[in-house]
Amino acid sequence: MKRALLLVATAILVLAAVLLVRTFSVTSMQIAAPPAPPLVLHRAAALARFSRAIQFRTVSFGENSPTTEHDAFVAWLATAYPRVHASLQREVVNGHSLLFTWRGSDPSLAPLLLLGHYDVVPVEGKWQQPPFSGAVNGGFVWGRGTLDDKVTVISILEATESLLAENFRPRRTLLFAFGHDEELGGLQGAANTAKLLQSRGVKLDAVIDEGGLIIRRTLGLTQPLAVIGIAEKGSANVELRVNGHGGHSSMPPARTPVGLVAEAVDRVQSHPMPSHITGATKEMLRWLAPHLPFAQRMVMANLWLFKPALDARAKTSNALNAMLRTTTAPTIISGGVKDNVIASEARAVINFRILPGDTTESVAAHVRDSLNEHDVNVQLVNGTDPSPISDARTRQFRTLQRTIAQVYRDTLVAPNLMVGGTDSRHFAPLTPNIYRFLPVLLDEKDLDRFHGLNERIAVDDYFQAIRFYRALIMNGAR
Ligand SMILES: [Zn+2]
Repeated sequence: MKRALLLVATAILVLAAVLLVRTFSVTSMQIAAPPAPPLVLHRAAALARFSRAIQFRTVSFGENSPTTEHDAFVAWLATAYPRVHASLQREVVNGHSLLFTWRGSDPSLAPLLLLGHYDVVPVEGKWQQPPFSGAVNGGFVWGRGTLDDKVTVISILEATESLLAENFRPRRTLLFAFGHDEELGGLQGAANTAKLLQSRGVKLDAVIDEGGLIIRRTLGLTQPLAVIGIAEKGSANVELRVNGHGGHSSMPPARTPVGLVAEAVDRVQSHPMPSHITGATKEMLRWLAPHLPFAQRMVMANLWLFKPALDARAKTSNALNAMLRTTTAPTIISGGVKDNVIASEARAVINFRILPGDTTESVAAHVRDSLNEHDVNVQLVNGTDPSPISDARTRQFRTLQRTIAQVYRDTLVAPNLMVGGTDSRHFAPLTPNIYRFLPVLLDEKDLDRFHGLNERIAVDDYFQAIRFYRALIMNGAR
């Protein structure tokens, strides 16, 4: 008995020792860098140009887009950024998307591509400032596109215009691609720009697109957290359909098509795809671990033991859940037209966001497996596989990380998995190094301004974004 107790006590001590050693041996991945030079710029003029850019209603809206507003915006860019248009080569792709080439002095270096998009999503609801006013009010610039994603396009052009004025000449060729239909999947703009570059045999050093932000006050961290997307999830729409006998509802069968589809939806929803701590999410946890409070740090450093705890937490955190697994969201259910008529057909659509490692096909197979007892027709309607995962330990990632450290002092950097899609995925055949980062500081509560009400950016953050792209161009084109 005594011997058994002794064994248990020893085991506990060994376990505690292992946990503690692992907890304290996770080292920081952060890098120190001297501050970027302050921004020397005619601020009022730069602010006026950004405000003007927001006023173009470059809305992506199904078949109606693009509009004359897209053309007007492109024409206005040429007058607003004369040096850029005089010194860089500009090509128009598919009528509306733009590709700028800033030729470097060393043609042996692979070009660096900066991506952005100038289309925006439609507007709903009542705003504090009109959504296409570009109003400068209370220290903010207001309007659709101030965050997503005209801030990228305009900041890159401001940075370039000012660097040209200083006779800066890149060693590495820079490409800027500005899409006009990102919000519709980039199938016209980004996809064709990527094809054009591919047809010319271009290999890119890296692609840097919109993506992760800098979030203040998150995850119990004392410093702001800048996240760089190194992968993005895929998506799939799976349709469930039941055909049966319609008729009067006075003598119904035990299960009607509507009932059967409802059961099938419930079955799929209660059988989520398995969780995995791999790839981009594993990298993120590794980078965050050394900076978290002790208890969380111990969990992150010992996931071999604590994964079940993380899984339990994911049941109450939709954001965490989305990082750990392919998510399941029934979005459409339909069938029936009259309250006393049994519909002969009922259908539902389930939208999955696919974790790297899973595929559209494996998702469809999972649904079929979950429903093998059910008389339901399962069909993969459409989908996109997840992106490849870019390495967070490359020179290119480090250049981006160093630039963030130079401009946003005392900010932590971590790679992450993007749950939404960007234009960058079209460029996967051109480089393994695709990084997604938007140089904007926000509180967590401001995240719903993306595609939501009262989209705005702090005036100072806009100037910081210009400073960021100046530093990125200088560091990346060196
Ligand atoms: Zn966007």
